[in-house]
Amino acid sequence: MSDHSHIRPWRHIERRISRKIRVGSVEVGGGAPISVQSMTNTPTTDAAATIDQIRQLEEAGADIVRVSCPDEDSTAAFRTIAREARVPLVADIHFHYRRGIEAAEAGAACLRINPGNIGNAARVRDVVQAAKDHGCSMRIGVNAGSLERELLEKYGEPCPEAMVESALNHARILQDHDFHEFKISVKASDPFLTVAAYQQLAEAIDCPLHLGVTEAGPLRSGTIKSAIGLGNMLWAGIGDTIRVSLAADPVEEIKVGFDILKSLGLRHRGVNIIACPSCARQGFNVIETVAVLEEKLAHISTPLSLSIIGCVVNGPGEALYTDVGFTGGGKGAGMIYLNGKIAHKQANDGMIDEIVARVEEKAAELNAARAAEAVGLAAAE
Ligand code: SF4
Repeated sequence: MSDHSHIRPWRHIERRISRKIRVGSVEVGGGAPISVQSMTNTPTTDAAATIDQIRQLEEAGADIVRVSCPDEDSTAAFRTIAREARVPLVADIHFHYRRGIEAAEAGAACLRINPGNIGNAARVRDVVQAAKDHGCSMRIGVNAGSLERELLEKYGEPCPEAMVESALNHARILQDHDFHEFKISVKASDPFLTVAAYQQLAEAIDCPLHLGVTEAGPLRSGTIKSAIGLGNMLWAGIGDTIRVSLAADPVEEIKVGFDILKSLGLRHRGVNIIACPSCARQGFNVIETVAVLEEKLAHISTPLSLSIIGCVVNGPGEALYTDVGFTGGGKGAGMIYLNGKIAHKQANDGMIDEIVARVEEKAAELNAARAAEAVGLAAAE
């Protein structure tokens, strides 16, 4: 239901104050909503397949999508891809400064590039100039697995201090070119190292931070690792944009990213389903029902809550705080709750359709209220 953080101080997260930058139409930092990103894994040269994947990511709610540009053919295809994408695109560039310039010219909203890795000062100047000319921001992406040799020699192994020093070295290069539209990530596959590096970086610089635990792994264990790492930082107020790195369909990365933010009340999107694990008391098959509902309600982006609880032990209590609720009862029927109040009895047969209809109705009602509020605000101005 609505945000009660003002009366529930234990839910409040004080976000780190960062400088605001833009990735195309999306604001990052400075109190802007925490954006959720993913990355395409199709060959960029296959523009049609890449656009298709970007569509899927957009539908899942992605705010920003990153696309790799390893060669000139890729930056050429990037132009077509950027024209079709509805969300801003980040071009992922490694080492070659020409790709950075080409991507900026081809419509990238942001370049993921480490200025210290692209060679001499003239090359850096040209990339920065291209970014300025085309309104691109940049992301400095430090990765524990690819730290500079001199830092590894100095510190002995990848450690938070080495990662932060690397990040600040890259940042200084951009600042020396009077370029300040950048964000930084300091990722490692180990959540301890990741969190410690971000904590130190958050103290050392005021730019927005792009969070991620890199190469977190397959869907289940990678999700857990990311939730622990990102959750820890976000809870402490650190982080302006996130990417969950999974060895899975990129759409899953977006879903997991939103679920992490939803769990912390930092962003709300779609139906938040509260469900019990079920036990012998259940009045209907909770697990199956929730799986079907998750599928049938995936198209709803309006934030609202739904409780699906097997019996009266916890059902009425949970339903008090959700927009729509169903609690299992006896004799093949349960109870529908709307806005925290009992609405009517509902046979288990047909409950799915009824719940979907009530949730869609609630989403329409909330959308209409939001639209009316926007009209009121516009009239008042
Ligand atoms: S709410 Fe009821 S059905 Fe669900 S786990 Fe608890 S006791 Fe079991």
